[in-house]
Amino acid sequence: MDALLIVDFQNDFAPGGALPVARGDEIAAPINAIADRFAFVVATRDWHPPDHGSFEGVEVDPDEWHGIDPPGIWPVHCVQGTPGAELHPALDRSHVDRVVDKAQDPSTQGYSSFHGGNLAEVLREHGVDHVYVTGLATDYCVKNTVLDAVREGFGVTVVEDAIRGIDVKPGDCERAIEEMRAAGADFVSSSELLARAPARA
Ligand SMILES: [Zn+2]
Repeated sequence: MDALLIVDFQNDFAPGGALPVARGDEIAAPINAIADRFAFVVATRDWHPPDHGSFEGVEVDPDEWHGIDPPGIWPVHCVQGTPGAELHPALDRSHVDRVVDKAQDPSTQGYSSFHGGNLAEVLREHGVDHVYVTGLATDYCVKNTVLDAVREGFGVTVVEDAIRGIDVKPGDCERAIEEMRAAGADFVSSSELLARAPARA
């Protein structure tokens, strides 16, 4: 069974938020358009404690840190229970069957949606064997979610017009897309998907 995965489409990652992804809000339209083609839709939230080690100015014991990137490189964002951590209002919540919170561990960025929550279990419980991935940001949480989904044994398709990236270094997004492709992920556009899949009754 296919599931739609919406990675970290939260206020802090949209324009006006604490760690905005340029044009991040634009993914709402393709996600809302395709969501009812899926019998199971999961939205993940970056859900950090206030002392999260990825935040600028937080003291981190280097021996404890096990993130992919160095600690302290991001502004404070997506703190548990704050408005910035809420799902973006342009996302039609009526399609979302389950919200999974992740990245609670203060000692790693927790980019992947499979990190810290129980996403793999939730998907398997529902008989999911293939995930269609959308969300923010292409070069961080989307990429690491896709790579983990492949490692977990799921088939993975990325909806290419329903992701946006940060591009700290120019070309980061392109490289992320190449990396996802090389790992075995397919890419499709929302319009191709709409043309191909029957609507859910
Ligand atoms: Zn984060």
